[in-house]
Amino acid sequence: MNPPNFVSDRKGMVTYMEFRDLKTQYQKLKKEMDQKIQEILNNTNFIMGKEVEELEQSLAKYVGQKHCITCANGTDALSLALMAWDIGPRDVVFVPDFTFFSSGEVVSYEGATPVFVDVDKDTYNIDVEKLEIAIQRVIEENEYIPKVIIAVDLFGQPADFYGIRRIANKYGLKVLEDGAQGFGGAIGEQKACSFGDISTTSFFPAKPLGCYGDGGAIFTNDDQTAELLSSLRIHGKGKDKYDNVKIGVNSRLDTIQAAILQVKLNAFIEYELKDINLWAKKYTEGLKDIVNVPNLKANVSSSWAQYTIQLDSEEQRNGLKSYLQSKGIPSMIYYSKPMHVQKAFQPYPFLGNDLSVTENLCKTVLSLPIHPYMNERLSCFVIDEIRGYLKG
Ligand SMILES: *Cc1c(COP(=O)(O)O)cnc(C)c1O
Repeated sequence: MNPPNFVSDRKGMVTYMEFRDLKTQYQKLKKEMDQKIQEILNNTNFIMGKEVEELEQSLAKYVGQKHCITCANGTDALSLALMAWDIGPRDVVFVPDFTFFSSGEVVSYEGATPVFVDVDKDTYNIDVEKLEIAIQRVIEENEYIPKVIIAVDLFGQPADFYGIRRIANKYGLKVLEDGAQGFGGAIGEQKACSFGDISTTSFFPAKPLGCYGDGGAIFTNDDQTAELLSSLRIHGKGKDKYDNVKIGVNSRLDTIQAAILQVKLNAFIEYELKDINLWAKKYTEGLKDIVNVPNLKANVSSSWAQYTIQLDSEEQRNGLKSYLQSKGIPSMIYYSKPMHVQKAFQPYPFLGNDLSVTENLCKTVLSLPIHPYMNERLSCFVIDEIRGYLKG
């Protein structure tokens, strides 16, 4: 997270810009937020207070799934899903090559083998044709068993779940939706975090729906899976937490974080999602003739975890980033390294698939500051500076 940057636009107006502005959000929600937090300080129900279950019900209703099980973070949410399916040694899990480290880390953590698959250059999400090639290769080599596809909703746009589901059905695989960045997006009327056999999200502060620390959630329609997940997140509990029927973990969402999320979810539903879409549209209108802007598929909407553009070359991308920085405009490179290049994954087989799109994206992408609390002046400033740099 960048520190606040004071910027002076071309009209000499001074303001400050953050990559994702959580301070303005807090000021707007402060009264209700402080009251909610104070309530829990007074009643001291810090673990599994009533707010946790209330939040789970609201989240399940919002995404349109029967069950929501909150947990300590988005990484644990993915791990718990793989645990519930008993994924382990000799199992293969397919993961996009262009994503945050967690999406692949959890596979290794469960002792299974991640196989990285290239992404689509326009949507940044897993390439369904290359996914099928990767699955066939694992089957041909006949040493590992293909089990799960982890599909990430990168930067807020849901993955191609119709294509993914077709492949999953054809090869008998489960679909795990990593919706850490996707919460709030949709395909038609169906919301992100409802497309997997299990779907997960993260409430890391800078995610589309963030809390004031770490947090995560798991969604499913399956009653038995939900029961298993509820047990696994609290030490494999049976009747209660002192009756332990399996080996689990300690991964709960704090009551205070649940209360914070109750306030934030209301704002998210009432105006934040709508507002961030307006700022994304404004960027697209202002930049589409000069740079590669994000591409939403027909009938798909994004929650804009990131607004990511593609430049022509690594030199141009790095040049623009430095130039923006000199003007006080923060930008980030998500992601600068493909998963298959990460040192931690070098011991794994199947790194030799065609991952050329990811390799190129890592050199050319740049994510711009975006959040629901932008204003006309800030967005024009960013657009003007990018246009100025690319034309000059
Ligand atoms: C942030 C993120 C995660 C992990 O979430 P945490 O809450 O930070 O553990 C997993 N996958 C993706 C795609 C993410 O962006």
